[in-house]
Amino acid sequence: MDKIDFRSDTVSWPTPTMRQAMATAVVGDDVYGEDPTVNELERLAAAKVGMEAALFVASGTMGNLVAILSHAGRGDEAIVGEDAHTYKWEAGGMAALGGVVPHPLPTDYAGRMALADIRAAICEDDPHLPRSRLILLENSYGERGGYPIPPDYFAGVRAIAAQHGLAVHLDGARLFNTAVALNLPASNITQHVDSVSFCLSKGLCAPVGSLLCGSADFIYRARRVRKQLGGGMRQAGILAAAGIVALQEMIERLADDHAHAQQLAQGLTQIPGFRIDPAQVKTNIVFFDLADEVTQSAAEIAHALSAQNIWLGAVGPRRFRAVTHYWVGELQVEQLLSALQRLLA
Ligand SMILES: *Cc1c(COP(=O)(O)O)cnc(C)c1O
Repeated sequence: MDKIDFRSDTVSWPTPTMRQAMATAVVGDDVYGEDPTVNELERLAAAKVGMEAALFVASGTMGNLVAILSHAGRGDEAIVGEDAHTYKWEAGGMAALGGVVPHPLPTDYAGRMALADIRAAICEDDPHLPRSRLILLENSYGERGGYPIPPDYFAGVRAIAAQHGLAVHLDGARLFNTAVALNLPASNITQHVDSVSFCLSKGLCAPVGSLLCGSADFIYRARRVRKQLGGGMRQAGILAAAGIVALQEMIERLADDHAHAQQLAQGLTQIPGFRIDPAQVKTNIVFFDLADEVTQSAAEIAHALSAQNIWLGAVGPRRFRAVTHYWVGELQVEQLLSALQRLLA
């Protein structure tokens, strides 16, 4: 890559193997179901999460929106973490395009809504109230530094959902970061949900795309919703080819990204002026803060770094986010740490 970019794992470029696979991909019209490479990617994705079927979509946001609109309708309610991506970072799509009412609940240090809060949030059958229909979960949890939530929580939510006839959708944009961090197959988590979406375009390095997975019947309905949203793509095998490489070659190596995030977190503890809790860094996202005595703002520091071609997210007046990925390894973490040390000296 031409810069040292820690702003997100979405900035990661496709690998040389991906570009090769894209150049030689066999394609067809996917809206007709005739793109063999898309069909292969969808089969592979469904198998990875132990579900019957999958649908290739343009983005994680589209995967979540298609899922929500396939599970719920106008006036239905979705229980969701108040800092979940589906609630906070998807432009209100569920309400704007689906008429689905979000019911946000607080989350703990790992990004979990309390089971008691979920139970209490479920509406009685009453004409005054929206109909509870859906529970939205996320794993790893972005706003908690990519915290990998273990499977038992999902089993607990599943039991409540089953009791009340609700569907459960998992926003698993970084699902494989969780699976690798916990050293479990992803299906240990996804067996407890009705549908899951995950991104190919983050740590897995594909240029574009996400998969929505679920039962064959659910994906049949989701395919219509994707079309309604304008997401039916044609010779999408060019993109799917990179996705196949992502699923075959890029999952296990996420452990390297996690090690580099931990390297960064440990390094930051050695620089006076930064506040960081390395114990919260379990996957590839590092949130850290400026100590009170530092006079510069996070934005000023990020700006000064960019002059050295190092890019970091200033996500609050005193707060940073760094995300590790394939293109920023041990050396780039060292470069970031020494640049930060010089700027605060
Ligand atoms: C990135 C992300 C998404 C959305 O993905 P896009 O492809 O950027 O639309 C959804 N959920 C979480 C938790 C994410 O981190």
